[in-house]
Amino acid sequence: MVDMSQAILDSLTDQVALIDHKGTILFVNKAWIRFSDENFQGVCSNYIGLNYLHVCQENVKAGIVSVLEGKCSIYTFEYPCHSQKHLRWFLLRVTPLVVEGEELCGAVISHINITDRKLAELSLTRKEEHYRLITEHSTDFISLHTRDGRFTFASPICKNILGYEVEELLDHSIYIFLHPEDQAKLQGFLKVAQFQTEIQTITYRIYRKDGSYVWFETKLKCLFTTEYQRDEFIFISRDITEQKNKMLELQAETKALKQKIYTDELTGVYNRRLLNLIVEKHIQEFHLHHQPFSLLMLDIDYFKQFNDTYGHVAGDRCLRRVAMSIKNDLGHQDFIFRVGGEEFCVLLPNTTEQEAAVIANHIRQTVESLNIPHTLSQVSPYITVSLGIYTVMQHEQQLTIGALLERADRALYKAKENGRNQTRSYS
Ligand code: GH3
Ligand code: MG
Ligand code: MG
Repeated sequence: MVDMSQAILDSLTDQVALIDHKGTILFVNKAWIRFSDENFQGVCSNYIGLNYLHVCQENVKAGIVSVLEGKCSIYTFEYPCHSQKHLRWFLLRVTPLVVEGEELCGAVISHINITDRKLAELSLTRKEEHYRLITEHSTDFISLHTRDGRFTFASPICKNILGYEVEELLDHSIYIFLHPEDQAKLQGFLKVAQFQTEIQTITYRIYRKDGSYVWFETKLKCLFTTEYQRDEFIFISRDITEQKNKMLELQAETKALKQKIYTDELTGVYNRRLLNLIVEKHIQEFHLHHQPFSLLMLDIDYFKQFNDTYGHVAGDRCLRRVAMSIKNDLGHQDFIFRVGGEEFCVLLPNTTEQEAAVIANHIRQTVESLNIPHTLSQVSPYITVSLGIYTVMQHEQQLTIGALLERADRALYKAKENGRNQTRSYS
């Protein structure tokens, strides 16, 4: 061994030994001796002349022999060799030893410390394992999609939530499984979401394998493969069917309740409670846009006598018929409210006094033409009504509900005073 070669081998941190074609150790470098001293103190102090094939593991022995016999040009083997204090891994590498111009005369054995690489690998595997565990055991359904919605990954929970195996979703478009009413919603959503960096949330219905559907709340984000190209979406979806159905039920109940709260039980038209709200809204609108609106106060003539003649049940029936015929007569933006026993109020948005007078007279005729007999009426053989009209046209000091209704009432009083079965304006 030339001194220079020895110096080079001694300067290596890998442990290097040279063996002859039988396996006898010819040379070891300083790193080899140091490692042996530190780890196998006193077991062996002189390595030269020992046969390495006698001390190594059986599988390693076979590898070294195949290099010595020229059957392979390199043999490697990774193994752990942990000390009391540290985790360590080594790579055993055996390569043929050829002295210039001669036949194969042995092999170079080196033990290379690969602990850093191994730890990095382990940490990566552990991270991947964590992600896998999270994905596979999450109760949320995690999926990846191309921009046009195709599944490129689906977590196994899809079997429980949707009834599909992972393979039945992969490569298929999510739109195949979507409720028809939600297709456009998701499509539009993804178009916008591909340019957004924050997580977006959307709810939609997706069909299960058995034909029923579940409500999904999906948090999604566009993942970009390069800075300019955004190709993939990650979806984290939760089955919110139960909450959604409860919410829909609640909404329906609230709607029904509102209907009940604002509807007059006997006649089915709106009641005074809603009148207050709606007139209030129109007053506010008037302040902003100065659109005139009119109120008609309407009262059935000689209704006490009607009850006396035909009885209370017939009186109720009469109230219903009068209310319904007026309701059917009105435009779709007009409202009728029952505000007292046989008193109604009609709200006519965007209606001037002249227009309101025409409508009021029409209502009066409509009621009379119902031909509900009323023998004790002093104005007609049939049920009739009197109407008072008040139109909000200009800014006034007192634009309150109370004031407006009182003016319409005063106009009604004039119509009564004047002989009933007629209309009168406040002005
Ligand atoms: P006017 O032409 O001046 O309005 O005379 P009127 O008899 O209609 O007025 P009055 O206020 O004296 O009587 C109203 C009657 O309406 C008294 C009551 O018997 C009747 N009434 C009020 N609410 C109801 C109801 O819900 N059902 C029935 N059947 N009658 C009712
Ligand atoms: Mg009355
Ligand atoms: Mg009356």
